[in-house]
Amino acid sequence: MGYEMGTKAFMNQKVKKLIELNKISRVTDGIYQCLPIPGYNISTYTIKEYFGKLLCNCQAGRKGRECSHIQAVRIYQERVEHSREVQLHIA
Ligand SMILES: [Zn+2]
Repeated sequence: MGYEMGTKAFMNQKVKKLIELNKISRVTDGIYQCLPIPGYNISTYTIKEYFGKLLCNCQAGRKGRECSHIQAVRIYQERVEHSREVQLHIA
């Protein structure tokens, strides 16, 4: 998929932060919002579930990549919507 190692580690850190800081919230059915992390970015992104696939309106997401926001929403879904505790295997 073309991620460099450094980029991936950075992304995972970011996903972890998004979850820890409760930046992900559900707007309505199939639509999620990702608030900015101070120091990382200033934009609020919207993540939509479309036929079971998550799409994000950030730069990477628009290119069809699985960005940190999508990964964070997936964890959010597991945790909140499936109401079970999921271990964060993000180092
Ligand atoms: Zn994104």
